[in-house]
Amino acid sequence: MEGSAIRLHDLRKSFGETTAVAGIDLEIRDGEFFSLLGPSGSGKTTVLRMIAGFETPTGGRIELAGQDVTGLAPFERDVHTVFQDYALFPHMTVEQNVAYALKVRKVPKAERLVRARKALAEVRLDGYGKRRPGQLSGGQRQRVALARALVGRPRVLLLDEPLGALDLKLREQMQVELKALQREVGITFVFVTHDQEEALTMSDRIAVFDQGRLEQVGTPAEIYERPVTSFVASFVGTSNLLVGEAAQRVVGTHGTFSVRPEKIRIAEESAEELTDADGPEHTTAVGTVAEVVYLGDSTRFLVDLDAGGRLTALQQNLETSAEDVAAYRGTRVRLRWQRRHTVHVPD
Ligand code: ATP
Repeated sequence: MEGSAIRLHDLRKSFGETTAVAGIDLEIRDGEFFSLLGPSGSGKTTVLRMIAGFETPTGGRIELAGQDVTGLAPFERDVHTVFQDYALFPHMTVEQNVAYALKVRKVPKAERLVRARKALAEVRLDGYGKRRPGQLSGGQRQRVALARALVGRPRVLLLDEPLGALDLKLREQMQVELKALQREVGITFVFVTHDQEEALTMSDRIAVFDQGRLEQVGTPAEIYERPVTSFVASFVGTSNLLVGEAAQRVVGTHGTFSVRPEKIRIAEESAEELTDADGPEHTTAVGTVAEVVYLGDSTRFLVDLDAGGRLTALQQNLETSAEDVAAYRGTRVRLRWQRRHTVHVPD
């Protein structure tokens, strides 16, 4: 991973009164799997479309591999976009679909075929070359779209929610495959998603967007464990935010703090187990269980703290059954977590 594949300088886009992208500075490195993550309408697709050249920025600059491409047409940029609906030609075979971009570039026929077959092998579709898109499953069509993107060996692959149309199981399988494929071919992937789990699973780094602005850029671990804004803390994973009086009473300092539910242990208030090790490394709080949500492998407890505020604690159901956990509703409990898991949220 050396050099920069993409640089955005104060990139802006407005549609009439609507500011879709409000001034973004970002560097994406060569060979990275980079995700643009944010809720619907946060501007991530508009950023991707500006990198591709489908949308003209209102302000700012785009560099690809050190070259200013802001004013260039899409075909003059060494990028390829994979859309959610795949955009395959239905009347062409799979092989023809994949080889099409090479045909446009006047690559000789024999070479086109060899390269198309290689790209199909890369996405594990050997033997499907003679079929038409209509004779494939959704997941297979997705792979054809990928093979078509890879065949021209672009420097950057832009993917706009490419797994959005797949059911959950297939989607999870494709996440793993896509990541492996990216590692294998070494092309820079820029991946748009609103699914935080998907971004955490696949990315080397993530940029979190909200309302046309960048909230945070970092590795999945940095984004999850050290969120720098309360938006990131609550959008990526579930987070307990301790603010104001509750923060003062529980953490001992004013400000905004985040604690992840899976870091919090829970026991009956009278039980000894969470009190013996209390010391400077731990934070404890007592409260009443307001709600219990049984999730199969784990249980979510919503606890109203005596100090004010509500915390969510997530426990694995190692030895407990659904009946055991239901009995917690309305009971007094003690919560405890390691102090290092209380993260200060600057904004
Ligand atoms: P989604 O996940 O729903 O695709 P997004 O984060 O990709 O959302 P964008 O599609 O980039 O968001 O849209 C950002 C904002 O710009 C939205 O308010 C949207 O309504 C607006 N917008 C996008 N394209 C256009 C357009 N062609 N004309 C007018 N407004 C637009």
